[in-house]
Amino acid sequence: MDSVIVNRKAEKRWETGHPWIFRSDVLERAQSPAGAVRVTAANGRPLGVALWSPQSEISLRMIDVDPRATIDAEWWRRRLERAVQRRTHVTSQATAYRLVHGEADACPSLICDRYGEYLVVQLLSAGVESFRAEIVDALVQLLRPTGILARNDVPVRTREGLPRSVEALHGEVPREIEVEESGVRYLAAPWDGQKTGAFLDQRENRALIGGVSRGRALDCFSYHGSFALHLARAAQTVTALDSSASALERARANAALNDFGNIEFVEADAFDFLRAADARRERYDTIVLDPPAFAKTRQSLAGALRGYKEINLRGMKLLARDGHLFTASCSFHVGRDLFFEMLQEAAADSGRALAIRALTGQPSDHPEILTIPETGYIKGALLQALD
Ligand code: SAH
Repeated sequence: MDSVIVNRKAEKRWETGHPWIFRSDVLERAQSPAGAVRVTAANGRPLGVALWSPQSEISLRMIDVDPRATIDAEWWRRRLERAVQRRTHVTSQATAYRLVHGEADACPSLICDRYGEYLVVQLLSAGVESFRAEIVDALVQLLRPTGILARNDVPVRTREGLPRSVEALHGEVPREIEVEESGVRYLAAPWDGQKTGAFLDQRENRALIGGVSRGRALDCFSYHGSFALHLARAAQTVTALDSSASALERARANAALNDFGNIEFVEADAFDFLRAADARRERYDTIVLDPPAFAKTRQSLAGALRGYKEINLRGMKLLARDGHLFTASCSFHVGRDLFFEMLQEAAADSGRALAIRALTGQPSDHPEILTIPETGYIKGALLQALD
């Protein structure tokens, strides 16, 4: 195994629990192509083993504190087995969930989601890509999936000098997979759906708002209707709103799959819809606001916060007395504090008395590690109008 020497800054970062070492903190680069390398401090002290990405700004991702570790098929099997075991409790709640959440499962830049008997993986760095065969073998051994799909069509691959593609790595994977989540069924779209085929990262939040759903309900930014399905179990009527006609088509199929006749589908811009509903003084007993990431970059933060405040202000005003609002942000750049401040400002402008019933984040299969902020991005709040 080739070795790499890093500076004091990189050493400190690794000691405080973060696995990334940036290009600028590498004193002596490896000559070898992407793979695993031994990492040493400037004074010669061995630090461990890392995944090596020669072209990336994130040159090294530490994977083992043991500098003598051999990163082979057996190593991957053990590492992945631990991640799989941590999910045992989820199997009673859903047949679709995340098995490997990258850095949070000590498998940097590796994502693996389970959809019933199929797996969808993302290999997000050159280092992890070089272990593709070992990872696929380990997953096959551990889980015996019918098929494994690689959703490697993500922009970060370009920054790693890797091609982007969607391909089956093992067996065959269908266009649609029927899965179950806390009592509702839906179709995941592994080949062309968002993320790896569904938004698994809101699973617990969907169950949370589903548990208090009633009366007239509204699911804005509905995508394939996953929140709407949970609302529909207890609400009288649900409006599932999205600006994408094709997303709503699948939402309709999902409603039919569950025999829900109480969901109406509205293709509209959520900002326009909420503004018009507010002007008409409409009221809803249950509302979900789960928009796409408005702040894709730090530069777009101010505009994003205005957008979040706008929809939340409208959502709060539209609540019937005792009604519940579940609101979320999946923008990494909007931290917990900013999200909470935005909600306080929206509440003040709405003139409503809103009780905080829960402050949430990601489900347990998407663990957020305190020392690795990049593992967390979802903030959620369940609010109830008391007036
Ligand atoms: N709540 C969903 C995920 C939402 S993804 C779930 O849990 O599965 C965000 C969705 O917002 C996408 O389907 C996108 O089409 C939709 N969208 C983006 N901008 C919108 C807008 N201005 N108005 C309405 N929908 C919008």
